[in-house]
Amino acid sequence: MLKKILIANRGEIAVRIVRACAEMGIRSVAIFTEPDRHALHVKRADEAYSMGEDPLAGYLDARRIVNLAVETGCDAIHPGYGFLSENSEFARICQERGITFIGPKADVIAKMGDKTQARKSMIAAGVPVTPGSEDNLADIEEAVVLANSIGYPVMLKATSGGGGRGIRRCDSEQELRDQYPRVISEATKAFGSAEVFLEKCIVDPKHIEVQILADSQGDAIHLYERDCSIQRRNQKLIEIAPSPQLTPEQRSYVGELAVKAAKAVGYENAGTVEFLVTGNDIYFMEMNTRVQVEHTITEQITGVDIVREQIRVASGLPLSYRQEDISFRGYALQFRINAEDPKNNFLPSFGRITRYYAPGGPGVRTDTAIYTGYTIPPYFDSMCLKLVVWALNWEDALDRGARALADMRVQGVKTTANYYQEILKNDEFRSGFFNTSFVPNHPELLNYSDKRAPSEIALAIAAAIAAHAAV
Ligand code: ADP
Ligand code: ADP
Ligand code: MG
Repeated sequence: MLKKILIANRGEIAVRIVRACAEMGIRSVAIFTEPDRHALHVKRADEAYSMGEDPLAGYLDARRIVNLAVETGCDAIHPGYGFLSENSEFARICQERGITFIGPKADVIAKMGDKTQARKSMIAAGVPVTPGSEDNLADIEEAVVLANSIGYPVMLKATSGGGGRGIRRCDSEQELRDQYPRVISEATKAFGSAEVFLEKCIVDPKHIEVQILADSQGDAIHLYERDCSIQRRNQKLIEIAPSPQLTPEQRSYVGELAVKAAKAVGYENAGTVEFLVTGNDIYFMEMNTRVQVEHTITEQITGVDIVREQIRVASGLPLSYRQEDISFRGYALQFRINAEDPKNNFLPSFGRITRYYAPGGPGVRTDTAIYTGYTIPPYFDSMCLKLVVWALNWEDALDRGARALADMRVQGVKTTANYYQEILKNDEFRSGFFNTSFVPNHPELLNYSDKRAPSEIALAIAAAIAAHAAV
């Protein structure tokens, strides 16, 4: 078993990994850049090292991070998500220096991180992909010819894209011509690669993804699916496990497809296979070769600790479970609480958390790195907390979500919490049948009041008086 792990990340996921290490008796090493000196992951890890003044550079300096792992006697690095987690060069440097990279092999990361390569591998494995490019596009004229044969609308996508960026829907040739240079420039800036490709745009699809786990012995299993159809600008806001809108047949089919995909590329460790579902059609979209933000909800319904399994598998141990050992119970929802102002076009709202009160009670889990007095720096993602609720049935899970969101207090910055309360009241959402157009189709859900209702304040005052009287 691994003995000491360097965590090449920050924020809630770094804290999540520290927690797994602590439970497994493994020493944890944090890295931080100066703006993060007072961050929670720094306080919680057994050791922490500064990577310099620049807010971001230190988290992205592959050679320096691997050197530090060697110098501090670590035997492994956990990359978390984002940053270097899908950087095959980083995995390769780890391998060269005798440090275990907690994830798949470098060549598998490279193959799946390139979306056109991944499509080729899936076609070869017999996994259905969305109709589209066989290769990266050479120029706009090739794009136009291909789009005409696929039929509009099409999706123009950055080959190395991620985090919902570098994707544009084009409804006509004119739009394609307009968007082409924009996507290339966005892809170059964000991902350092100008490669783009085309896919048929699946109209109003459901985003269904399957969590998989694979070991170095060649075994691979799935932990069922997550429904991430509640998105804004291709970014997930609320995730649900299992999907309330799959038939049992679709569920087992998509699970088997994901395992087939993983085995076909010699996958090791935890990963996610993402699909688009429309009617009875299921298409492979991409594979994320890392732990995902929403792994939490799968943990809640299956009871499997995914980060622990990642560490065990990276240690060379076989999977702790066979497919028939995996079952799920109830429903879990994750709310990505972002420090953003939904009423102001989701503008990031960084600053000092003047008060944080974590919701609790049955079926509630929070994964966060904020605390009262912490200042959210402006250099990173705006997601500041993941609120996860679980209950035995769908309606109870929704009600528990509303209750937990109401319990929670995050003051000093604007958050998406109140907006999620509106989504939870919506009948279409509550019906369990929705697709990726839900958020854009419901702009009226942004018309809520940020102030606490007078009745709520009156109740709070009454409760305070009653409590005082009882003493
Ligand atoms: P998940 O796929 O786990 O649901 P996201 O898509 O929100 O999560 O991505 C998690 C984090 O990783 C975000 O901060 C996102 O910006 C970052 N990220 C994902 N893919 C890439 C990529 N290809 N390049 C750079 N950053 C990425
Ligand atoms: P990322 O790497 O940024 O996560 P994905 O390829 O996973 O990019 O796509 C992100 C989201 O964009 C999907 O969840 C879906 O909502 C939308 N999307 C991507 N491709 C298509 C498509 N071909 N048709 C319709 N929607 C798509
Ligand atoms: Mg994706």
